[in-house]
Amino acid sequence: MSAPSAPAPIVVQKYGGSSVADLDKIRAVAERIAATVADGRRVIAVVSAMGNTTNELIALAQQASPAPDRRELDMLISVGERITMALLAMCLRDLGVAARSLTGSQSGIITDERHADAQVVEVRPDRLLQTVEDGTVAIVAGFQGVSRQREVTTLGRGGSDTTAVVLAAAVKAEHCEICSDVDGVFSADPRVVPSAAKLEDLPLEAAVELARGGAKVLFEDAVRYARDHGVRLTASSTFGPGSGTRLQVKDAPTKPVAVTSDHQLVAVSTSAADVWSLLAACGARVRSVEGGQAIVDIRNVHGALPDALEAQPVARVRAVASALAERPDRWHRAHDALQVDGIDVQAHGAAGDVVWWQVPAERLSDAVRVVHEALHRPG
Ligand code: ADP
Ligand code: ASP
Ligand code: MG
Repeated sequence: MSAPSAPAPIVVQKYGGSSVADLDKIRAVAERIAATVADGRRVIAVVSAMGNTTNELIALAQQASPAPDRRELDMLISVGERITMALLAMCLRDLGVAARSLTGSQSGIITDERHADAQVVEVRPDRLLQTVEDGTVAIVAGFQGVSRQREVTTLGRGGSDTTAVVLAAAVKAEHCEICSDVDGVFSADPRVVPSAAKLEDLPLEAAVELARGGAKVLFEDAVRYARDHGVRLTASSTFGPGSGTRLQVKDAPTKPVAVTSDHQLVAVSTSAADVWSLLAACGARVRSVEGGQAIVDIRNVHGALPDALEAQPVARVRAVASALAERPDRWHRAHDALQVDGIDVQAHGAAGDVVWWQVPAERLSDAVRVVHEALHRPG
């Protein structure tokens, strides 16, 4: 009697909003998945909302209420991904590929109760595994889960990446591919710095720093989870021919020089009454505490911050490279170049691998170009 053959490996593929922006693109994604199945893989495909849908749903909520209730907001914005999952499953079935769509909750993604910025606390992949067992493609709505109180939650902007990585870890996938409109992670946003270089291999630790600094291509929670759970992760273009970026858990090459920017930050005084509980309640993430102020990421707040916090908008450019802060001979070139370009440096800091400059929001893209050019200049 011959030994039973090993089950086909599982791969998780995540398709972002621009990859599923209309029905033609959804059909093209279905063909890409069908090709992976034909290649002998079992596929879990995680999808984002079509194009700009999440922004439109948030804008609608803000028209309904200036500070939308966060539970109801999650009920609304979790719908975007469900539209895509059903359409993609229909397209795959029309190609003759068995496929079934599942919500985050049906996929077993259990989160805490922090609406609109929930953290995954457990994954119960039984139903997902049952689905892929016989070769059916599982199409999962990204960006969402369910709390232990059985409330629908969402995982923060960019959270479909997290869905893909947590599922890849739970089903012990061969690898997890984050597919978007760029061929991986670059030394800066290629839309802002056309000369930015594609990073072929990137340590996950460095990817966490880039994501924390605002490099949208990978969501920070997802990269952190991949690092902590040893998920093999790649970032690549859905329709492009490139080879993407391999994220390295071990034996990583040294950190490349990369530059990111973030304008969805505010500074709040830490002496305001109840500052920490107010920040926690509105879904803000504290990025750092510097002297008497906290620098806070507000991308998942979706309403006005409490007046008591007296929040001031902040825009920052960050450079990341191994031990960069310790080498002022390297980063001082960027510091000088900002002055030469007439970019007002309102504050500046350096620690470990990261050096940052706070600049006027309207000069942020210029500052990214200047810092990137200065740090990549030979000599
Ligand atoms: P998706 O909708 O597929 O999740 P995102 O829009 O979230 O895709 O992320 C892809 C975008 O990230 C790119 O279009 C690019 O403009 C931006 N981006 C910012 N920083 C970087 C970087 N360092 N490398 C690559 N892309 C970046
Ligand atoms: N649709 C969600 C967003 O726009 C999640 C995602 O795309 O990852 O943030
Ligand atoms: Mg994204």
